[in-house]
Amino acid sequence: MPINPSELEQMSGPPRSQDAPPFCVGCGYDLTGAVSERCPECGQVFVRKEWHDRVAAIKRRMLEVEDANNWAAFGLKGACGGLLLLILCVIVRTGMSVSFFRIVAGILGAMAILMGLGVLRAGSLPEWARERLPQPPRKDIVSGALLVGAVDVALAIFGPF
Ligand SMILES: [Zn+2]
Repeated sequence: MPINPSELEQMSGPPRSQDAPPFCVGCGYDLTGAVSERCPECGQVFVRKEWHDRVAAIKRRMLEVEDANNWAAFGLKGACGGLLLLILCVIVRTGMSVSFFRIVAGILGAMAILMGLGVLRAGSLPEWARERLPQPPRKDIVSGALLVGAVDVALAIFGPF
């Protein structure tokens, strides 16, 4: 089975700054082998040390976005589970289990919303970094997590059962 490089990187722990790809933080131009401290593409001057740290920070955030997709998917599953519990509440109607299920469903819904919102961090990335994301933010999964999560919370609090 082929292993993709970003998976390999995730397995080997958080990226170290010396692993940072030599990209211009201004325009994303590949600065491998650049001799001067000025980007040949956009003219941005960079101090090598600072530039190293900034690229490393951006790269860390890129990995966080990848994780965020997984968290959003996880949150969506939880929120769907919460919805099932609420449907169960409607069927069962009375008893202790109903209030317990409501609380659990509400918590699952709130967690789905939080996990879905984590993907918004991608918005703070510069455009060139967003273009290079191995896995762009999954808007479908995120909106699913937010939507089902919100329905869970609303039903858990205001549900007429
Ligand atoms: Zn540049």
